[in-house]
Amino acid sequence: MKVLKFGGTSVGSAERMKAVAGLINNDEPKIIVLSALSGTTNSLVEISNSLYKNKPEQAHEIINALEEKYFKVVDELYSTKVFKSSGKEFITSRFDFIRSFTNDDFSGIEEKKILAQGELISTELFHYYLTEAKIDSVLLPALNFMRIDTNDEPDRYYIKENLTRELGSYPGKKLFITQGYICKNLHGEIDNLKRGGSDYTASLIGVALDSEEVQIWTDISGFHNNDPRFVENTYAISRLSFDEAAELAYFGAKVLHPSTVLPAKNANVPVRLKNTMKPDDEGTLITDKPNGDGIKAVAAKDGITVIKVKSGRMLLAYGFLTKVFQVFQHYETPIDMITTSEVAVSVTIDDASRLRKIVEELKNLGDVEVGKNMTIVCLVGHNIMNQKGYIKKVFEALNDFSLRMISYGGSRHNISILIPSDDKKAVLEALHKSLF
Ligand code: ADP
Ligand code: ASP
Ligand code: MG
Repeated sequence: MKVLKFGGTSVGSAERMKAVAGLINNDEPKIIVLSALSGTTNSLVEISNSLYKNKPEQAHEIINALEEKYFKVVDELYSTKVFKSSGKEFITSRFDFIRSFTNDDFSGIEEKKILAQGELISTELFHYYLTEAKIDSVLLPALNFMRIDTNDEPDRYYIKENLTRELGSYPGKKLFITQGYICKNLHGEIDNLKRGGSDYTASLIGVALDSEEVQIWTDISGFHNNDPRFVENTYAISRLSFDEAAELAYFGAKVLHPSTVLPAKNANVPVRLKNTMKPDDEGTLITDKPNGDGIKAVAAKDGITVIKVKSGRMLLAYGFLTKVFQVFQHYETPIDMITTSEVAVSVTIDDASRLRKIVEELKNLGDVEVGKNMTIVCLVGHNIMNQKGYIKKVFEALNDFSLRMISYGGSRHNISILIPSDDKKAVLEALHKSLF
């Protein structure tokens, strides 16, 4: 059974939802994973933030505007009076539920219930549309099978068991619709797979069912060789290996949620990126097979903090790095890049929520310097280390910029460069011009 995930823009309006229905209306058995309509999760985040900040009037303004938007979608999506009026009733009930939250003691548990509404609404509206169009389908609640454990990691065994059981209770059915992004946690509370997590849902389902393919349908014709939001004339790459795609997604290529590739790689389930607006475009196929050596793409990840620890005690000593890393381990903060000199080590982190405590402890080991607002630019390709001639192009392109860190040789597939975020667009453009 194939898994097809449609992102926010792909279901962003009544018209788009109808187009998706057209794309999936054939006899092939499949599970459709839907995101919330584009913009909805952002609005739900804003509603929650307003409640956190004790601004209920502001929350209600956003709720009312969003509800209006959905009334319009309902009106355009359904053609019969019966469906229009039940659609409106459904929307009213969801938004009354969102309105029922108050700023008193508003906490993470309530926030996650609010954030889940986007996908609950999109799937219900879509399923209802298929019903009106007499396309037989089953709405499978993701909350019945998608679960994360205490480390916020998906509980693969639970997902497989419960999804298989759910599907088994609909013999003969071929088309299933479910929510991306949302899940339950170990306490049975509503939770989620972090922003952009619907891609991750699709790959977890694909792996649980040992699917022949997971398709990620979005608003662009595949994985581009540079970030199209910052660079002109980027183009889609027809094939990538799991390793290449994983590096690109982890280092900022927004087209795929960073965790999507690893489960697919481990289970060897191909992932295909397709464009909902241009379904005939080839897109990108991600498999275990590398397709040629050399740099294939560049991606960038913002919001990086760099921490340097300098100590004379590092000179000719062993065990210093262990002590540095133990601090990060203690505060459960992953390190992305590392560079060392004889007397200093610099590391980057993405999650700076425990920065103050980390710095306090690192001061026991040496002088500490912190730099904020940094960006990791990552160049990815298969076996790039074995290629000749490209290093000159990379450094010539970067000649006019100040580079804070360079990481080369950690794998054969990646070069990472740390730069001030203010230079990001110019660096991406310069690399694009020189490499592609
Ligand atoms: P969806 O809502 O379908 O999940 P996203 O907005 O999350 O879509 O991802 C698609 C967007 O990712 C594209 O519109 C594009 O602007 C952006 N993007 C960033 N880097 C890349 C890249 N390397 N290739 C393709 N798209 C990229
Ligand atoms: N709706 C969620 C978000 O906007 C999940 C997703 O779109 O993948 O983050
Ligand atoms: Mg996305």
